[in-house]
Amino acid sequence: MDAVERAAALREYAEQTATCTRCALAEGRTQVVFGSGSPHADLMFVGEAPGRHEDEQGLPFVGQAGRLLDQLLGEIGLAREQVFIVNTLKCRPPGNRDPLPEEIAACEPHLFRQIELIEPKLVATLGNFATKLLSGRPTGITRVHGHEQEVTLGTRTVLLYPLYHPAAALYTPSMLKVLEEDFARIPVLLESAADAPATSGEAEVHQVGEPEPIQLGLF
Ligand code: URA
Repeated sequence: MDAVERAAALREYAEQTATCTRCALAEGRTQVVFGSGSPHADLMFVGEAPGRHEDEQGLPFVGQAGRLLDQLLGEIGLAREQVFIVNTLKCRPPGNRDPLPEEIAACEPHLFRQIELIEPKLVATLGNFATKLLSGRPTGITRVHGHEQEVTLGTRTVLLYPLYHPAAALYTPSMLKVLEEDFARIPVLLESAADAPATSGEAEVHQVGEPEPIQLGLF
């Protein structure tokens, strides 16, 4: 798929997703928060779920945690327009409660399709929910953060890089320090991921489904 086709396919998928009723969260949301950034990004971030601000604005990570994410990106010379940011759930859980297993399962195909279309080389999971889903393992973020691993997601082998969730680091300076240290490795990981073959290989398999920055969430 060339760059124009990729952007068009992602736009079309965002339009389809906007009317999703795969789970009960559809009833309480203001809008679906599809994700935003460059359809051609090598680096994708996967958070947990939209909060109040994201639900209102239709864009991921626009609240306090999002400001910290922007800052962390800035510290490694990146802007959010150069990456793609999504969530495990595309709709806000009421009262910002934790995602339910059935909601994660219902929303999973959207995330996997996004990965298939964007073809990132490095997928950084923010916090427990995204990490457990994409690693296919129950091990918590405290043990796995900062440890990259090759995984095959659908047809694509990517480097998975678990990180603490920025919201957890907001008020815990020691966690913020670790998050900054883990972030600092991203440029090197991106380079090594760029050298590796990007198609399905011998990596651990579990079935999961710069040009022209686009704010897909604004559609
Ligand atoms: N936390 C998330 O996990 N995602 C958002 O979009 C905002 C806060």
